[in-house]
Amino acid sequence: MNVEKLMLKLERKHPNEPEYLQAVREVLTTVEEAYNQHPEFEANKIAERIVEPDRQFTFKVTWVDDRGQVQVNTGYRVQFNNAIGPYKGGLRFHPSVNPSILKFLGFEQIFKNALTTLPMGGAKGGSDFDPKGKSAGEVMRFCQAFMIELWRHIGPETDVPAGDIGVGGREIGYLYGMYRKLARENTGVLTGKGMTYGGSLIRPEATGFGAVYFLVQMLAEQGMEIAGQRIAISGFGNVAWGAAKKATELGAKVVTISGPDGYIYDEAGLNEEKIAYMLELRASNNDVVAPYAEKFPGAKFVAGHKPWEVAVDIAMPCATQNELGGEDAKQLLANGVKIVAEVSNMGCRPEAIEAFIEAKIPYGPGKAVNAGGVATSGLEMTQNSQKLNWTAEEVDAKLHQIMSSIHTACIEYGTEAGGYINYMKGANIAGFMKVAKSMVEQGVI
Ligand code: GLU
Repeated sequence: MNVEKLMLKLERKHPNEPEYLQAVREVLTTVEEAYNQHPEFEANKIAERIVEPDRQFTFKVTWVDDRGQVQVNTGYRVQFNNAIGPYKGGLRFHPSVNPSILKFLGFEQIFKNALTTLPMGGAKGGSDFDPKGKSAGEVMRFCQAFMIELWRHIGPETDVPAGDIGVGGREIGYLYGMYRKLARENTGVLTGKGMTYGGSLIRPEATGFGAVYFLVQMLAEQGMEIAGQRIAISGFGNVAWGAAKKATELGAKVVTISGPDGYIYDEAGLNEEKIAYMLELRASNNDVVAPYAEKFPGAKFVAGHKPWEVAVDIAMPCATQNELGGEDAKQLLANGVKIVAEVSNMGCRPEAIEAFIEAKIPYGPGKAVNAGGVATSGLEMTQNSQKLNWTAEEVDAKLHQIMSSIHTACIEYGTEAGGYINYMKGANIAGFMKVAKSMVEQGVI
Protein backbone atom coordinates (compact mmCIF):
# COMPACT_ATOMS: atom_id res chain seq x y z
CA MET A 1 0.00 0.00 0.00
CA ASN A 2 1.17 3.49 -0.80
CA VAL A 3 -0.55 5.65 1.82
CA GLU A 4 0.30 9.01 0.24
CA LYS A 5 -1.01 7.95 -3.17
CA LEU A 6 -4.20 6.62 -1.68
CA MET A 7 -4.68 9.74 0.46
CA LEU A 8 -4.15 12.00 -2.53
CA LYS A 9 -6.87 10.16 -4.40
CA LEU A 10 -9.25 10.44 -1.44
CA GLU A 11 -8.42 14.13 -0.90
CA ARG A 12 -9.28 14.85 -4.54
CA LYS A 13 -12.48 12.87 -4.34
CA HIS A 14 -13.65 14.21 -0.96
CA PRO A 15 -12.09 17.68 -0.57
CA ASN A 16 -14.82 18.79 1.85
CA GLU A 17 -14.51 15.90 4.28
CA PRO A 18 -11.61 16.79 6.62
CA GLU A 19 -12.67 14.61 9.57
CA TYR A 20 -13.06 11.55 7.34
CA LEU A 21 -9.65 12.16 5.75
CA GLN A 22 -8.08 12.66 9.20
CA ALA A 23 -9.44 9.34 10.50
CA VAL A 24 -8.40 7.44 7.37
CA ARG A 25 -4.89 8.90 7.39
CA GLU A 26 -4.36 7.94 11.03
CA VAL A 27 -5.41 4.33 10.49
CA LEU A 28 -3.57 3.80 7.20
CA THR A 29 -0.28 5.30 8.37
CA THR A 30 -0.25 3.21 11.55
CA VAL A 31 -1.15 -0.08 9.84
CA GLU A 32 1.02 0.40 6.72
CA GLU A 33 3.96 -1.69 7.92
CA ALA A 34 1.84 -4.59 9.18
CA TYR A 35 -0.31 -4.42 6.01
CA ASN A 36 2.68 -4.70 3.74
CA GLN A 37 3.67 -7.96 5.42
CA HIS A 38 0.49 -9.48 3.98
CA PRO A 39 0.69 -9.58 0.17
CA GLU A 40 -2.85 -11.00 0.07
CA PHE A 41 -4.15 -7.67 1.44
CA GLU A 42 -2.66 -5.69 -1.43
CA ALA A 43 -3.71 -8.35 -3.97
CA ASN A 44 -7.29 -7.92 -2.75
CA LYS A 45 -7.06 -4.09 -2.61
CA ILE A 46 -8.17 -4.18 1.03
CA ALA A 47 -7.02 -0.61 1.79
CA GLU A 48 -8.94 0.85 -1.16
CA ARG A 49 -12.03 -1.18 -0.27
CA ILE A 50 -12.02 -0.56 3.47
CA VAL A 51 -11.93 3.25 3.21
CA GLU A 52 -15.06 3.31 1.04
CA PRO A 53 -18.44 2.94 2.82
CA ASP A 54 -20.59 0.07 1.53
CA ARG A 55 -23.47 2.57 1.15
CA GLN A 56 -24.75 5.87 2.52
CA PHE A 57 -28.32 7.07 2.86
CA THR A 58 -29.40 10.70 3.04
CA PHE A 59 -33.03 11.48 3.69
CA LYS A 60 -35.34 14.38 4.46
CA VAL A 61 -36.91 14.58 7.92
CA THR A 62 -39.92 16.87 8.19
CA TRP A 63 -41.73 17.54 11.44
CA VAL A 64 -43.86 20.22 13.13
CA ASP A 65 -42.52 22.20 16.11
CA ASP A 66 -44.49 23.41 19.16
CA ARG A 67 -45.40 26.68 17.43
CA GLY A 68 -46.96 24.78 14.54
CA GLN A 69 -44.06 25.63 12.21
CA VAL A 70 -42.85 23.02 9.74
CA GLN A 71 -39.19 22.08 10.25
CA VAL A 72 -36.90 20.32 7.78
CA ASN A 73 -33.74 18.41 8.76
CA THR A 74 -31.43 15.98 7.00
CA GLY A 75 -31.04 12.41 8.22
CA TYR A 76 -28.17 10.06 7.39
CA ARG A 77 -27.00 6.48 7.80
CA VAL A 78 -23.55 5.38 6.66
CA GLN A 79 -23.27 1.58 6.44
CA PHE A 80 -19.52 1.31 6.29
CA ASN A 81 -18.45 -2.31 6.56
CA ASN A 82 -20.23 -5.53 7.56
CA ALA A 83 -17.45 -8.05 6.96
CA ILE A 84 -17.50 -9.38 10.52
CA GLY A 85 -21.13 -8.79 11.57
CA PRO A 86 -24.23 -6.63 11.06
CA TYR A 87 -23.64 -2.89 10.69
CA LYS A 88 -23.51 -1.37 14.17
CA GLY A 89 -23.01 2.16 15.44
CA GLY A 90 -24.74 5.12 16.98
CA LEU A 91 -26.91 7.97 15.79
CA ARG A 92 -25.74 11.53 16.47
CA PHE A 93 -28.18 14.45 16.63
CA HIS A 94 -26.19 17.68 16.53
CA PRO A 95 -26.18 20.74 14.23
CA SER A 96 -22.58 19.94 13.18
CA VAL A 97 -23.56 16.55 11.71
CA ASN A 98 -22.56 16.19 8.05
CA PRO A 99 -21.30 13.37 5.78
CA SER A 100 -17.65 13.95 6.75
CA ILE A 101 -18.33 13.57 10.48
CA LEU A 102 -20.50 10.49 9.99
CA LYS A 103 -17.98 8.89 7.66
CA PHE A 104 -15.15 9.43 10.15
CA LEU A 105 -17.30 7.99 12.93
CA GLY A 106 -18.42 5.04 10.80
CA PHE A 107 -14.84 4.32 9.75
CA GLU A 108 -13.59 4.39 13.36
CA GLN A 109 -16.50 2.17 14.36
CA ILE A 110 -15.32 -0.65 12.06
CA PHE A 111 -12.08 -1.10 14.01
CA LYS A 112 -13.54 -0.34 17.43
CA ASN A 113 -16.23 -2.97 16.95
CA ALA A 114 -13.63 -5.48 15.72
CA LEU A 115 -11.61 -4.84 18.91
CA THR A 116 -14.56 -5.73 21.16
CA THR A 117 -14.22 -9.39 20.06
CA LEU A 118 -17.95 -9.38 19.20
CA PRO A 119 -19.35 -9.88 15.67
CA MET A 120 -20.29 -6.31 14.72
CA GLY A 121 -19.59 -4.31 11.57
CA GLY A 122 -19.24 -0.53 11.44
CA ALA A 123 -21.87 2.15 10.77
CA LYS A 124 -22.96 5.58 11.95
CA GLY A 125 -25.87 7.89 11.36
CA GLY A 126 -27.73 10.87 12.65
CA SER A 127 -29.07 14.26 11.76
CA ASP A 128 -28.30 17.97 11.90
CA PHE A 129 -31.29 18.28 14.27
CA ASP A 130 -30.31 20.39 17.30
CA PRO A 131 -31.85 19.00 20.53
CA LYS A 132 -30.86 22.17 22.42
CA GLY A 133 -33.94 23.94 23.77
CA LYS A 134 -36.37 21.46 22.19
CA SER A 135 -39.38 20.23 24.19
CA ALA A 136 -39.95 16.51 24.82
CA GLY A 137 -42.82 16.62 22.32
CA GLU A 138 -40.61 18.11 19.63
CA VAL A 139 -37.90 15.52 20.25
CA MET A 140 -40.50 12.75 20.02
CA ARG A 141 -41.98 14.04 16.76
CA PHE A 142 -38.53 14.45 15.26
CA CYS A 143 -37.47 10.90 16.28
CA GLN A 144 -40.66 9.47 14.80
CA ALA A 145 -40.20 11.33 11.52
CA PHE A 146 -36.56 10.20 11.40
CA MET A 147 -37.52 6.54 11.89
CA ILE A 148 -40.25 6.67 9.23
CA GLU A 149 -37.37 6.94 6.74
CA LEU A 150 -34.67 4.90 8.48
CA TRP A 151 -36.62 1.76 9.37
CA ARG A 152 -36.42 0.16 5.91
CA HIS A 153 -32.63 0.14 6.04
CA ILE A 154 -32.14 -1.44 9.47
CA GLY A 155 -32.90 -4.73 11.21
CA PRO A 156 -31.52 -6.95 13.98
CA GLU A 157 -29.35 -8.91 11.53
CA THR A 158 -28.77 -6.01 9.12
CA ASP A 159 -27.95 -2.78 10.90
CA VAL A 160 -28.39 -1.99 14.60
CA PRO A 161 -28.26 1.74 15.51
CA ALA A 162 -27.76 3.10 19.03
CA GLY A 163 -27.11 6.43 20.74
CA ASP A 164 -24.31 8.96 20.41
CA ILE A 165 -24.16 12.71 21.07
CA GLY A 166 -27.75 14.03 21.40
CA VAL A 167 -29.27 10.54 21.39
CA GLY A 168 -29.81 8.95 24.80
CA GLY A 169 -32.34 6.63 26.40
CA ARG A 170 -35.30 8.94 25.73
CA GLU A 171 -34.57 9.28 22.01
CA ILE A 172 -33.89 5.55 21.62
CA GLY A 173 -37.33 4.94 23.19
CA TYR A 174 -39.09 7.19 20.68
CA LEU A 175 -37.11 5.72 17.77
CA TYR A 176 -37.80 2.15 18.87
CA GLY A 177 -41.51 2.85 19.36
CA MET A 178 -41.86 4.02 15.77
CA TYR A 179 -39.72 1.15 14.41
CA ARG A 180 -41.91 -1.39 16.22
CA LYS A 181 -45.06 0.19 14.82
CA LEU A 182 -43.79 0.27 11.23
CA ALA A 183 -42.06 -3.13 11.17
CA ARG A 184 -44.75 -4.81 13.28
CA GLU A 185 -42.16 -6.75 15.16
CA ASN A 186 -40.40 -6.51 18.47
CA THR A 187 -36.77 -7.25 17.75
CA GLY A 188 -33.62 -5.77 19.26
CA VAL A 189 -33.10 -3.43 16.33
CA LEU A 190 -31.77 -0.59 18.47
CA THR A 191 -29.48 -0.80 21.49
CA GLY A 192 -29.50 1.45 24.53
CA LYS A 193 -33.16 0.56 25.01
CA GLY A 194 -35.05 1.03 28.28
CA MET A 195 -35.10 -1.83 30.76
CA THR A 196 -38.84 -2.44 30.25
CA TYR A 197 -38.50 -3.26 26.54
CA GLY A 198 -35.26 -5.17 26.00
CA GLY A 199 -32.49 -2.91 27.28
CA SER A 200 -29.39 -4.15 29.06
CA LEU A 201 -28.34 -3.27 32.58
CA ILE A 202 -25.09 -1.25 32.64
CA ARG A 203 -25.56 0.03 29.02
CA PRO A 204 -26.04 3.68 30.16
CA GLU A 205 -22.85 3.51 32.24
CA ALA A 206 -20.89 1.25 29.89
CA THR A 207 -18.85 3.74 27.84
CA GLY A 208 -17.59 5.63 30.90
CA PHE A 209 -17.14 2.52 33.06
CA GLY A 210 -15.31 0.67 30.27
CA ALA A 211 -13.05 3.69 29.76
CA VAL A 212 -12.07 3.67 33.42
CA TYR A 213 -11.46 -0.11 33.35
CA PHE A 214 -9.14 0.48 30.41
CA LEU A 215 -7.46 3.40 32.21
CA VAL A 216 -6.85 1.21 35.28
CA GLN A 217 -5.00 -1.26 33.02
CA MET A 218 -2.97 1.53 31.39
CA LEU A 219 -2.00 2.74 34.87
CA ALA A 220 -1.11 -0.78 36.06
CA GLU A 221 1.16 -1.18 33.05
CA GLN A 222 3.07 1.89 34.33
CA GLY A 223 3.07 0.56 37.91
CA MET A 224 0.45 3.09 39.04
CA GLU A 225 -2.97 2.96 40.66
CA ILE A 226 -6.04 5.05 40.02
CA ALA A 227 -6.71 5.98 43.67
CA GLY A 228 -5.49 9.49 44.44
CA GLN A 229 -4.96 10.54 40.79
CA ARG A 230 -6.26 13.95 39.69
CA ILE A 231 -8.32 13.65 36.52
CA ALA A 232 -9.54 16.30 34.07
CA ILE A 233 -12.69 15.25 32.24
CA SER A 234 -14.29 17.25 29.44
CA GLY A 235 -17.98 17.14 28.55
CA PHE A 236 -20.89 16.56 30.89
CA GLY A 237 -23.04 14.07 28.96
CA ASN A 238 -23.61 10.38 29.44
CA VAL A 239 -20.01 9.38 28.71
CA ALA A 240 -18.42 11.98 31.04
CA TRP A 241 -20.94 11.01 33.72
CA GLY A 242 -20.07 7.29 33.57
CA ALA A 243 -16.33 8.01 33.60
CA ALA A 244 -16.64 10.44 36.53
CA LYS A 245 -18.81 7.98 38.46
CA LYS A 246 -16.45 5.01 38.14
CA ALA A 247 -13.23 7.01 38.57
CA THR A 248 -14.60 8.63 41.74
CA GLU A 249 -15.81 5.27 43.04
CA LEU A 250 -12.25 3.94 42.61
CA GLY A 251 -10.76 6.80 44.62
CA ALA A 252 -9.64 9.22 41.90
CA LYS A 253 -10.32 12.94 42.15
CA VAL A 254 -12.17 14.31 39.10
CA VAL A 255 -11.59 18.06 39.14
CA THR A 256 -13.14 19.26 35.86
CA ILE A 257 -16.12 18.85 33.55
CA SER A 258 -16.96 21.10 30.61
CA GLY A 259 -19.58 22.26 28.13
CA PRO A 260 -19.68 24.45 25.03
CA ASP A 261 -19.80 27.49 27.38
CA GLY A 262 -16.54 26.73 29.29
CA TYR A 263 -15.35 24.45 32.05
CA ILE A 264 -15.91 23.84 35.75
CA TYR A 265 -12.89 23.57 38.04
CA ASP A 266 -13.87 21.84 41.25
CA GLU A 267 -10.78 21.55 43.44
CA ALA A 268 -12.62 19.45 46.05
CA GLY A 269 -13.39 16.86 43.35
CA LEU A 270 -16.72 15.47 42.19
CA ASN A 271 -18.79 13.36 44.57
CA GLU A 272 -22.00 11.35 44.29
CA GLU A 273 -24.27 14.39 44.59
CA LYS A 274 -22.33 16.40 42.00
CA ILE A 275 -22.20 13.47 39.58
CA ALA A 276 -25.97 13.01 39.91
CA TYR A 277 -26.37 16.74 39.21
CA MET A 278 -24.56 16.28 35.86
CA LEU A 279 -27.56 14.28 34.66
CA GLU A 280 -29.94 17.06 35.70
CA LEU A 281 -27.81 19.61 33.86
CA ARG A 282 -27.83 17.48 30.70
CA ALA A 283 -31.57 16.83 30.94
CA SER A 284 -32.25 20.59 31.09
CA ASN A 285 -31.35 20.60 27.35
CA ASN A 286 -29.54 23.95 27.58
CA ASP A 287 -26.05 22.57 26.85
CA VAL A 288 -24.27 24.70 29.48
CA VAL A 289 -22.21 23.77 32.58
CA ALA A 290 -22.07 27.21 34.23
CA PRO A 291 -25.01 26.47 36.61
CA TYR A 292 -22.80 23.85 38.36
CA ALA A 293 -20.73 26.66 39.93
CA GLU A 294 -23.90 28.35 41.26
CA LYS A 295 -25.14 25.11 42.79
CA PHE A 296 -21.76 24.14 44.29
CA PRO A 297 -20.09 27.41 45.36
CA GLY A 298 -16.65 25.80 45.96
CA ALA A 299 -16.40 25.25 42.20
CA LYS A 300 -15.23 27.81 39.66
CA PHE A 301 -16.64 28.34 36.16
CA VAL A 302 -14.08 29.38 33.54
CA ALA A 303 -15.95 30.79 30.55
CA GLY A 304 -14.80 30.00 27.01
CA HIS A 305 -11.83 27.82 28.03
CA LYS A 306 -11.11 24.09 27.90
CA PRO A 307 -10.16 22.08 30.99
CA TRP A 308 -6.73 21.13 29.59
CA GLU A 309 -5.10 24.15 31.30
CA VAL A 310 -5.64 22.59 34.75
CA ALA A 311 -2.70 20.64 36.25
CA VAL A 312 -3.75 16.97 36.42
CA ASP A 313 -2.25 13.47 36.32
CA ILE A 314 -4.73 12.13 33.80
CA ALA A 315 -6.71 13.72 30.97
CA MET A 316 -9.93 12.11 29.75
CA PRO A 317 -11.51 13.95 26.82
CA CYS A 318 -15.18 12.88 26.87
CA ALA A 319 -16.86 15.52 24.68
CA THR A 320 -16.35 15.41 20.91
CA GLN A 321 -13.87 15.08 18.03
CA ASN A 322 -10.77 17.29 17.89
CA GLU A 323 -11.47 18.79 21.29
CA LEU A 324 -7.83 18.54 22.41
CA GLY A 325 -5.33 20.31 20.12
CA GLY A 326 -1.55 20.66 19.90
CA GLU A 327 -1.42 23.64 22.28
CA ASP A 328 -3.63 21.84 24.80
CA ALA A 329 -1.29 18.84 24.68
CA LYS A 330 1.74 21.08 25.31
CA GLN A 331 -0.01 22.65 28.29
CA LEU A 332 -0.97 19.26 29.74
CA LEU A 333 2.59 17.96 29.28
CA ALA A 334 4.07 21.11 30.85
CA ASN A 335 1.79 20.51 33.83
CA GLY A 336 3.05 16.93 34.19
CA VAL A 337 0.18 14.84 32.76
CA LYS A 338 1.03 11.13 33.05
CA ILE A 339 -1.64 9.43 30.95
CA VAL A 340 -4.21 10.47 28.35
CA ALA A 341 -7.23 8.21 27.92
CA GLU A 342 -9.33 9.55 25.04
CA VAL A 343 -12.97 8.66 25.55
CA SER A 344 -14.54 10.80 22.80
CA ASN A 345 -14.21 9.54 19.23
CA MET A 346 -11.05 11.11 17.74
CA GLY A 347 -10.99 13.58 20.64
CA CYS A 348 -7.32 14.48 20.09
CA ARG A 349 -5.97 16.27 17.04
CA PRO A 350 -3.02 14.57 15.25
CA GLU A 351 -0.56 17.19 16.62
CA ALA A 352 -1.69 16.40 20.17
CA ILE A 353 -1.26 12.65 19.67
CA GLU A 354 2.18 13.25 18.21
CA ALA A 355 3.16 15.35 21.24
CA PHE A 356 2.03 12.66 23.70
CA ILE A 357 3.81 9.90 21.81
CA GLU A 358 6.98 11.96 21.50
CA ALA A 359 6.92 12.62 25.25
CA LYS A 360 6.40 8.84 25.76
CA ILE A 361 3.16 9.46 27.61
CA PRO A 362 0.73 6.56 27.21
CA TYR A 363 -2.13 7.76 24.98
CA GLY A 364 -5.17 5.48 24.68
CA PRO A 365 -7.19 6.23 21.52
CA GLY A 366 -10.99 6.50 21.62
CA LYS A 367 -11.57 3.38 19.56
CA ALA A 368 -9.99 1.31 22.35
CA VAL A 369 -10.87 3.36 25.43
CA ASN A 370 -14.54 3.97 24.60
CA ALA A 371 -15.26 0.54 23.08
CA GLY A 372 -17.10 -0.54 26.24
CA GLY A 373 -20.19 1.34 25.02
CA VAL A 374 -20.64 -0.53 21.79
CA ALA A 375 -19.40 -3.76 23.42
CA THR A 376 -22.28 -3.55 25.89
CA SER A 377 -24.59 -2.84 22.94
CA GLY A 378 -23.31 -6.13 21.54
CA LEU A 379 -24.17 -7.79 24.85
CA GLU A 380 -27.65 -6.24 24.62
CA MET A 381 -28.03 -7.79 21.14
CA THR A 382 -27.06 -11.20 22.54
CA GLN A 383 -29.58 -10.90 25.38
CA ASN A 384 -32.31 -9.86 22.90
CA SER A 385 -31.68 -12.81 20.62
CA GLN A 386 -31.65 -15.19 23.59
CA LYS A 387 -34.76 -13.43 24.98
CA LEU A 388 -33.02 -13.20 28.34
CA ASN A 389 -31.89 -10.46 30.72
CA TRP A 390 -28.54 -10.79 32.41
CA THR A 391 -27.85 -9.34 35.85
CA ALA A 392 -25.81 -6.15 36.23
CA GLU A 393 -22.96 -8.25 37.67
CA GLU A 394 -22.94 -10.54 34.63
CA VAL A 395 -22.87 -7.64 32.18
CA ASP A 396 -20.22 -5.77 34.17
CA ALA A 397 -18.01 -8.88 34.36
CA LYS A 398 -18.24 -9.31 30.57
CA LEU A 399 -17.47 -5.63 30.05
CA HIS A 400 -14.39 -5.99 32.28
CA GLN A 401 -13.25 -9.01 30.30
CA ILE A 402 -13.72 -7.23 26.95
CA MET A 403 -11.79 -4.12 28.07
CA SER A 404 -8.96 -6.37 29.27
CA SER A 405 -8.81 -8.19 25.98
CA ILE A 406 -8.68 -4.86 24.10
CA HIS A 407 -5.83 -3.75 26.36
CA THR A 408 -3.96 -7.01 25.73
CA ALA A 409 -4.43 -6.60 21.95
CA CYS A 410 -3.04 -3.04 22.14
CA ILE A 411 0.04 -4.30 23.97
CA GLU A 412 0.51 -7.18 21.55
CA TYR A 413 0.37 -5.00 18.44
CA GLY A 414 1.57 -1.67 19.84
CA THR A 415 4.66 -2.32 21.96
CA GLU A 416 7.63 -0.60 20.33
CA ALA A 417 11.32 -1.52 20.41
CA GLY A 418 12.14 0.61 23.46
CA GLY A 419 9.16 -0.78 25.39
CA TYR A 420 6.85 2.22 24.86
CA ILE A 421 3.27 1.07 24.31
CA ASN A 422 1.83 2.87 21.31
CA TYR A 423 -1.85 2.21 22.02
CA MET A 424 -2.97 4.01 18.86
CA LYS A 425 -0.86 1.72 16.70
CA GLY A 426 -1.86 -1.34 18.70
CA ALA A 427 -5.60 -0.62 18.47
CA ASN A 428 -5.49 0.25 14.77
CA ILE A 429 -3.48 -2.82 13.78
CA ALA A 430 -5.47 -5.26 15.94
CA GLY A 431 -8.82 -3.98 14.64
CA PHE A 432 -7.67 -3.71 11.03
CA MET A 433 -6.15 -7.20 10.87
CA LYS A 434 -9.36 -8.89 11.91
CA VAL A 435 -11.52 -7.06 9.36
CA ALA A 436 -8.94 -7.33 6.56
CA LYS A 437 -8.51 -11.09 7.06
CA SER A 438 -12.25 -11.59 7.02
CA MET A 439 -12.56 -9.57 3.79
CA VAL A 440 -9.84 -11.64 2.11
CA GLU A 441 -11.50 -14.90 3.15
CA GLN A 442 -14.90 -13.79 1.84
CA GLY A 443 -13.69 -12.80 -1.64
CA VAL A 444 -14.07 -9.65 -3.67
CA ILE A 445 -17.61 -8.40 -3.01
N1 GLU B 1 -21.99 5.81 19.76
C1 GLU B 1 -21.24 4.86 20.51
C2 GLU B 1 -19.87 4.70 19.91
O1 GLU B 1 -19.31 5.67 19.44
C3 GLU B 1 -22.00 3.57 20.74
C4 GLU B 1 -22.41 2.85 19.49
C5 GLU B 1 -23.30 1.62 19.76
O2 GLU B 1 -23.57 1.29 20.90
O3 GLU B 1 -23.70 1.03 18.75
O4 GLU B 1 -19.26 3.67 19.92
